Amino acid sequence: MSGKAPSATKQEASKSPKNFIELRIDEDNKTGRFGGEVHTRFPPEPNGYLHIGHAKSICLNFGLAQKYKGKCNLRFDDTNPVTEEDEYVQSIKNDVRWLGFDWGDSEFFASDYFDQLYALAQKLIKAGKAYVDDQSADEVAAQKGTPTEPGKESPFRNRSVEENLDLFQRMRDGEFNEGSKVLRAKIDMASPNMHMRDPALYRIKKKAHHRTGDKWNIYPMYDFAHGLSDSIEGITHSICTLEFEVHRPLYEWINNQLVDHRPQQIEFARLNLSYTVMSKRKLLELVQQNHVNGWDDPRMPTISGLRRRGYTPRSIRNFAERIGVAKRDGIIDVALLEHSIREDLNKVANRVMGVLDPLKLVITNYPEGETENLTAINNPEDESAGKRELPFGREIYIDRADFMEDPPKKYFRLGPDRLVRLKYAYIVKCTGYEKDDNGNITEIHAEYYPESKSGQDTSGLKVKGTIHWVSVAHAVKAEVRQYDRLFMDEDPAGHKEKDFKEFLNPDSLEVIEKAYLEPSLLKARPGDRFQFERKGYYCVDPDFTTEKPVFNLTVTLRDSWAKIAKKG
Ligand code: ATP
Ligand code: MG
Repeated sequence: MSGKAPSATKQEASKSPKNFIELRIDEDNKTGRFGGEVHTRFPPEPNGYLHIGHAKSICLNFGLAQKYKGKCNLRFDDTNPVTEEDEYVQSIKNDVRWLGFDWGDSEFFASDYFDQLYALAQKLIKAGKAYVDDQSADEVAAQKGTPTEPGKESPFRNRSVEENLDLFQRMRDGEFNEGSKVLRAKIDMASPNMHMRDPALYRIKKKAHHRTGDKWNIYPMYDFAHGLSDSIEGITHSICTLEFEVHRPLYEWINNQLVDHRPQQIEFARLNLSYTVMSKRKLLELVQQNHVNGWDDPRMPTISGLRRRGYTPRSIRNFAERIGVAKRDGIIDVALLEHSIREDLNKVANRVMGVLDPLKLVITNYPEGETENLTAINNPEDESAGKRELPFGREIYIDRADFMEDPPKKYFRLGPDRLVRLKYAYIVKCTGYEKDDNGNITEIHAEYYPESKSGQDTSGLKVKGTIHWVSVAHAVKAEVRQYDRLFMDEDPAGHKEKDFKEFLNPDSLEVIEKAYLEPSLLKARPGDRFQFERKGYYCVDPDFTTEKPVFNLTVTLRDSWAKIAKKG
């Protein structure tokens, strides 16, 4: 692990070169287009939990507001009652706050604008720029044409304003069935941009909405609601992902027809991460089909999953800063995200001893029944973290992997007649071992050198290896959940002929029911983070109780990103 990486705070404050969005804002500020104001928004649809891609968008939008001393709204884009729920609204607020951002009183809902949006749709009809189409969705789709062939005009396109106003109102009042009518913009069926070929603006949905209840039988489409909501809120720069680039002409067309304040839409590439999927629909599938244990399963790329996994908000913000904003889609190596959390935890996580695959070691020349308290350093990277006491005795647990019956030369841990240092304690020499009928090693015997105590070693012995251990008499039995990647493929959703779930890693969760930890961990609380020496970073799961402590593996110690970065 590199201690030389820039500190997180420095990293956050660093003056990296401006990205294309900032350059664009600078330009608008220069021309005075928005009076020098910068007002962004983060507009989630409350139809699922937020994921790391959203975190990037949050950091970007709130970050720009901070940088330019502007504002960032939290707006729930809740125009589809079928998939949206209050549970999601609450989780989204919780996640944005946890990431470290504050929207003050700028919390809005597109559904708050339903009356205004309805009035604006009437205005569009009155201007002769929208009409009610009685055709089915299939008929409309069949007339759309192709990118190279123009579409066909609807037979209902030239209805009178009065008829359109009347029909639209009756749609609202619930007189017609779902799918039987739709309000469309009257733009250009021959436009080379398919989104401009008389797109739908309102559809009938006889569903209760999580905020407006049964008031509405019609709901605005995203394209109609989004830009107008931006305008209503005085947004200056409406930042969205690349797939909306082709919607920009429509975004501008609608605002140009109806409102005076016209925000600038700017697109950037969405974040894709290797070895995971990043769409709420797919994540919902994993939850509903019990491939994971809920939205906050530590294997999920959701913010709640990352939190439960032990990620810090700062590590996620640093990650977002590091990847920057791009104009072209790509896949970011998940190793970079893992690097960001290691870098942060290396500085802030206290070191503790934990034995995950225990093997008993008896120190035969150590007095029976005796305990001594040794001194251990909490964090070598942070002196202010202090020291703690570590009980030591005649019987300890070591990790099974730290003993070999017939070790090769370069193996510096324990083997018959070999010496090793027990961290913060003594040097011991293996004098024998026991096996069960199946040939499994069940116990190691060793002798210690009393004069080799750490910090006051006068033994003159030289050993190459140091291993961790936990006193048997004081060990805390814990459940440790070891996590691996949820998918075995770099791009599980990128296979046309195969479902992404075929790439689920069957071994992504291994539950160790009997791990032994040092007793100080009984005082740990959910959310606390530690480094188990030589193993990895672990955090306390919300399921933790003192009767049954539960820890989650956040990330192992091996930093593959640092290696890649060095090579490159
Ligand atoms: P998903 O496809 O995962 O369901 P979405 O785009 O439908 O995501 P929204 O709730 O509409 O989710 O997104 C809220 C904001 O977050 C939008 O501005 C969207 O562009 C942004 N966003 C969503 N996914 C990503 C991503 N992977 N990278 C960056 N920004 C994203
Ligand atoms: Mg969306």
